[in-house]
Amino acid sequence: MRVINPDHRLIAHKLAYLRDKRTDSPTFRRLAEELMTLLAYEATRDVRVEPFEIETPVAPTTGIKLSNPKPLIVPILRAGLGMLEGMVRLLPSAEVGFLGMQRDEETLQAITYANRLPDDLSGRQVYVLDPMLATGGSAAHAARTVKEAGARSVRLLSIIAAPEGIAALHDAHPDVGIVVAAIDEGLDANGYIVPGLGDAGDRIWGTR
Ligand code: URA
Repeated sequence: MRVINPDHRLIAHKLAYLRDKRTDSPTFRRLAEELMTLLAYEATRDVRVEPFEIETPVAPTTGIKLSNPKPLIVPILRAGLGMLEGMVRLLPSAEVGFLGMQRDEETLQAITYANRLPDDLSGRQVYVLDPMLATGGSAAHAARTVKEAGARSVRLLSIIAAPEGIAALHDAHPDVGIVVAAIDEGLDANGYIVPGLGDAGDRIWGTR
């Protein structure tokens, strides 16, 4: 599994303000979108394309365009929604599907409470958005769901990852690549990433 952790000062700068507990929700959302656009740039380097003929005002030449089927972006509700706009800005012709996931408090496994994906993902490149790769449970479950529907390649975009989450996702899906703005120290006893940024959903949507 490839883990891409871009070394870029703008990413580090925006991330510092995201982490800061004084940052309010509107600013948090804007920064998360901006960060996502920067991560999306890295994540889509190998997006599938095909050549096509064009004519400039001066001469014919060959360009490239996104291949069909177009990529599918899948934010995991609810925090992943805060990353969607930044990704769609860079890939406006991508389709968007949604997965709602929560933890079953008895089994501690991720369960799906909403699935709005196309039935057939054959040949699709899928970009899963989940800001916090903590235990890896939701990401692994999402990867399994889209692969079972036929996805050809799956990449996870996260803002912060814990080493435990990276290892868990790698064990379950060694083929799934990760693009992440920061890899933090680890998880605390409550499953929060340290130093992290707290509860991403609460901070994006202003809930407590
Ligand atoms: N989910 C969050 O929102 N934050 C964490 O630190 C871990 C999981």
